[in-house]
Amino acid sequence: MLTSIVGINWGDEGKGRMVDLLSEQQDIVCRYQGGNNAGHTVVNERGKFILNLLPSGILRPNVVNVMGNGMVIDLLHLYSEIGRLRAAGIEISPANLKISDRACITMPYNVIFDRLEEWRLADHAYGSTGRGIAPAYGDKYMKKSIRTGDIFYPDALKESLKALIEYKNLTVRSLYGNLLADTETARVKLGRDSEGNYYFDRFIKGGELSFDAMSAWLDEMSEYFHDYIVDTGVYLTNALSEGKRIMFEAQLGALRDIDFGIYPFTSSSSTIAAYGPIGAGIPGEQLDYTLGIMKAYSSCVGAGPFTVEMFGDEAEVLRAAGGEYGAATGRPRRVGGFDAVASRYGVRVQGADELAFTKLDILSYMDKIPVCVAYDINGKITTDFPVGEALNVAKPVYEYLDGWKCDISGCRKPSDLPANARKYISWCEDAVGCKIRYVSVGAERDAYIDMDIDE
Ligand code: GDP
Repeated sequence: MLTSIVGINWGDEGKGRMVDLLSEQQDIVCRYQGGNNAGHTVVNERGKFILNLLPSGILRPNVVNVMGNGMVIDLLHLYSEIGRLRAAGIEISPANLKISDRACITMPYNVIFDRLEEWRLADHAYGSTGRGIAPAYGDKYMKKSIRTGDIFYPDALKESLKALIEYKNLTVRSLYGNLLADTETARVKLGRDSEGNYYFDRFIKGGELSFDAMSAWLDEMSEYFHDYIVDTGVYLTNALSEGKRIMFEAQLGALRDIDFGIYPFTSSSSTIAAYGPIGAGIPGEQLDYTLGIMKAYSSCVGAGPFTVEMFGDEAEVLRAAGGEYGAATGRPRRVGGFDAVASRYGVRVQGADELAFTKLDILSYMDKIPVCVAYDINGKITTDFPVGEALNVAKPVYEYLDGWKCDISGCRKPSDLPANARKYISWCEDAVGCKIRYVSVGAERDAYIDMDIDE
């Protein structure tokens, strides 16, 4: 049985908590794309956890977690994340964590290039999280990646690393030489790794990337992760034949997908459910069930078109109510009302069978709740999600639904909800054309309603 949990919007929909909730019924949870650029927040009886790389199933003792070939993995970041969780009492070992031998490693030079490029672009920067994701995927498609399985052949690995560093240093010298010459600023701009070391101090020698430093980094990581790296395709195929239940956990949402999202303000990977089996290592398998996570209002991190954006006090109040500050970076998120145009598109490209509607409790303070029903593109009204410049100039067309103006965080069944909250849910359900199965009304594990159960 293959289940997928994916984001319908721009990410930060609350996927982590739904995976945490539904992982109870799973044997295996897989991440299949992205890297440590996103953060999933999970609150349960053991505490509050922010997961950047590890699948959310890591918080369940009986779940095996897979990091698939579709990911780009900063091994040092993973090392630090494992350390943090272990300190909180979570057990992590090769028995419950399996890393694909075909995943690409996000190397320190990928992070360095990411930060150098944002620095070079200055006012035109993409708003990258600076965690090396785009350069790591760029290398993947340029066929210049180091993959996790390469660590089993250290001599060949060193040869490729040498050639890669030579190649990278051509760009470092020609494109970023001036920036790196300002050593004090470069130190700050390149920042620190997850263990607090300055990238500049550790990896830049004589204005260039140091092969020796990169090689030493790989040696340390190879030793630590040696026993975690396996052929996850074989592992998952065997698990399926034993009748195991597998869940794919996406990072980010449909509108950040490299093909279907708000390009170029997208992630560099496929956030789409259909990519799950490919990115985990079982490309021949088909999904049995896809649950889309859709937020009761909108939020968006970083630059790019965001049609329903609120400004001023209206935005401040919603941002504060929803705690809309990035889990990975702490950046304030842009916020707005529910966008039916973007969400319907998200439901379609994700192929969602059912939806979880999250953070409904956040809207409890509103008298009238704005919902975007269409886009006005230079005077032409459309309900189809546009692309390119049409999206950049789109203006929202709003309707307003009545608020419920009371605390709903204690509601646990549909009939506990005030009538206007139920109306809001069914309005959104109709607007996107997909059944809302779950409604979440708080961050805690049990703060949700199964709309099919009213007892
Ligand atoms: P993800 O990346 O999709 O997992 O989303 P994030 O973890 O970035 O954002 C979700 C945030 O909202 C986290 O802080 C969750 O603990 C919190 N959260 C999730 N669902 C609810 C909900 O129904 N109500 C409230 N108040 N908070 C929620």
